Amino acid sequence: MTWCKKCGSTQNQVKSGKTSAGSQRMYCKQCRTVYTPIKKCYDKDIKILACQLYLSGKSFRQVGKKFNVDGNTVSMWVQKFSSNF
Ligand SMILES: [Zn+2]
Repeated sequence: MTWCKKCGSTQNQVKSGKTSAGSQRMYCKQCRTVYTPIKKCYDKDIKILACQLYLSGKSFRQVGKKFNVDGNTVSMWVQKFSSNF
């Protein structure tokens, strides 16, 4: 699954050529951003993005659904990261 790093959308994601390093690039039609998808699951970027979505008013469950993880996992990430903010 691919999702936009900027807006977190999983819809309207299309391939957009490759980087000079050869990684696939994606284009988000939702917010018109070109980005390189995150390959590793649950890496720091995803956790931060999950926290940002939560802080923007979504519930743990809503955020969890987006990333295919449990709401409790999201709550754990937020707790962990909010102490670093
Ligand atoms: Zn987007």
